[in-house]
Amino acid sequence: MELLDGTKVANEILDDLKNQVENLKKKGVEACLGIILVGNRKDSESYVRMKKKRCQEVGIINCDVRLPENVTEEELLRHVERMNQNPFVHGMLVQLPLPPHINPERIISKVSIEKDVDGFHPVNFGNLALQRHPEKTMFPCTPEGVIYLLDKYQIPIEGKDVVVVGKSNIVGLPMSLMLMHRGATVTVCHSQTENLKQKTSKGDILIVACGQSEMITSEYVKEGGVVVDVGINSVKDETRKSGYRIVGDVNFEFVEEKCSYLTPVPGGVGPMTIAMLLSHTVKLASSE
Ligand code: NDP
Repeated sequence: MELLDGTKVANEILDDLKNQVENLKKKGVEACLGIILVGNRKDSESYVRMKKKRCQEVGIINCDVRLPENVTEEELLRHVERMNQNPFVHGMLVQLPLPPHINPERIISKVSIEKDVDGFHPVNFGNLALQRHPEKTMFPCTPEGVIYLLDKYQIPIEGKDVVVVGKSNIVGLPMSLMLMHRGATVTVCHSQTENLKQKTSKGDILIVACGQSEMITSEYVKEGGVVVDVGINSVKDETRKSGYRIVGDVNFEFVEEKCSYLTPVPGGVGPMTIAMLLSHTVKLASSE
């Protein structure tokens, strides 16, 4: 088995972005990513921290807004609008998930299409689905990062049987569409799928984004198949100082003997997602 090393590939992308950010600075443009974070979820705080750290490394500046858990939808929308109007902010995102009293679809649809670095805006999503205006469409970062990684390792997609576990709007669904557009025959599985193992084990490429800690064991995997683990789950671990550790949706030890390529967690899809996010920000700053 060969590791699909997301950290290494992402670092190459970040190095290149660093140069682009430098060149923008010489032209008087300071690439800026705006981030709105609502509430105190530990996982969201940690994702935002990581995004900001990578921005700093590359030279992208941040515009942050931190709002309390009980913020109203109207107040959040006012902050979104303020960031939409801020000429110094090139790209922006609202960290998901949002508290249950806020409708995420409503918020996402109010993020300016010109600044939608996450690619979650319905117009971007529609363009992705219909393959319209590919040059100006923002693709969601995680599926785009997965495809970048597969391409980097020269893993063919066209004509292959690809199974995606998960159909969320941010990972599984756009992932399936992007793979279909690349000529794969895609099977999408979810919580109501019957005989899941039977389906996943047919995949030349199996992409798992179901949020179930280490659910995928060797019986779910095709002999010699490629396995991409999108999952990021924290599980209790008394042996760690933090009291927890991060695992994927795939049981790495059970699967590694059977597949040809496998992403580690951490160090697989996670860094690729952030690299795509930063690359979207730089793209928008460059088109200023
Ligand atoms: P969601 O909870 O939104 O979606 C999970 C999907 O998995 C749903 O479609 C659900 O089916 C399906 N599912 C749940 N349980 C099962 C099961 N037992 N068998 C088959 N399918 C199942 O999660 P996300 O898509 O947002 O995230 C998925 C994982 O990816 C999480 O671990 C998340 O932390 C991680 N993630 C990682 C990122 C990265 O950068 N690496 C970025 C974003 C997410 P149904 O639709 O029927 O409910």
